[in-house]
Amino acid sequence: MKRILVTGGAGFLGSHLCERLLKEGNEVISLDNYFTGQKRNIVHLMDNPYFEVVRHDVTMPFFIEVDEIYNLACPASPIHYQYNPIKTVKTSVMGAINMLGLAKRIKAKILQASTSEVYGDPQVHPQKESYWGHVNPIGLRSCYDEGKRVAETLFMNYHHQNNVRIKIIRIFNTYGPRMHPNDGRVVSNFIVQALKGENITVYGDGGQTRSFQYVDDLIEGMIKMMGTGEDFTGPVNIGNPGEFTILELAQKVIELTGSKSKIVFEPLPSDDPMQRKPDISLAKEKLNWEPKIHLEDGLKKTIEYFDNLLKENG
Ligand code: NAD
Ligand code: UDP
Repeated sequence: MKRILVTGGAGFLGSHLCERLLKEGNEVISLDNYFTGQKRNIVHLMDNPYFEVVRHDVTMPFFIEVDEIYNLACPASPIHYQYNPIKTVKTSVMGAINMLGLAKRIKAKILQASTSEVYGDPQVHPQKESYWGHVNPIGLRSCYDEGKRVAETLFMNYHHQNNVRIKIIRIFNTYGPRMHPNDGRVVSNFIVQALKGENITVYGDGGQTRSFQYVDDLIEGMIKMMGTGEDFTGPVNIGNPGEFTILELAQKVIELTGSKSKIVFEPLPSDDPMQRKPDISLAKEKLNWEPKIHLEDGLKKTIEYFDNLLKENG
């Protein structure tokens, strides 16, 4: 049995990770300040005596004895990370410093949840880990993108300078149950709009693309990455290479929900990347991992989740 710390454990991805790690027989500690996460996401785990919940902000030092750390704490949706951009940078950068300092002191292995946003609005397609990215350092998204880029720098520096055992994964757009219904991300927005019969808000002409990964595939990749040998630090892309335009996604959601919602077009937010698709050959080679869940199957599970949530909330 390993003792594992998950920062951001009450968030969308963190809650799935805690659940899976507990299922595998580990002792798990969720650390979260509940900025975007919710107790609701982990309440079903609280009866488990091997699960502990800590309310804490990663920008402050934290001391604990664990074998592994998964560092997920950071708001991930544009609405949330732009709400207080200075805090977003602090969470990424000071959070990374605090967690790396802890990992160094207790000799724990530590994994960073980085993001495809480090590639910015990419000029290379699909994106390989060797691509350095195309990020506007002073744009609306920079608090998140640059914060995550510095976090990667810190991880590499702690590895080279202090021999900390690090793992970096670059997560591409992930969706599934427990996404926050109001966080403005495209999958949750479209599903909630379709279920309520409201207009589906496509930004721009809907020709921009994303590659959508179902949460279970990501968690599998994350755990496999943590299990790799010391010589492999990443960064490694974890995403589903199936690429769809936002308009195609809107049409698929309408079809699967049987909704009467109409598609409406709204202005494209600034610095919105035009295309995004992971090259996952490195993950296939090093982790023997590739996503298994097709968009349609993942959307059906997510629609069911939001349908129940909306009924519960009246
Ligand atoms: P989320 O907002 O649901 O989860 C983030 C969690 O971190 C929340 O529970 C939040 O309360 C917590 N948190 C935020 N600031 C904190 C702080 N200062 N101290 C302690 N806890 C704090 O988002 P998510 O989608 O679950 O994302 C989790 C991680 O994965 C993030 O680091 C994000 O950057 C990364 N990621 C997610 C995606 C995606 O598509 N979901 C894509 C790329 C990267
Ligand atoms: N988007 C949209 N309508 C919405 C929400 C998002 O058209 O109601 C678009 C958004 O402009 C972007 C894409 O969907 O091009 C993905 O947005 P999201 O915020 O989910 O993720 P990110 O831009 O960070 O990849």
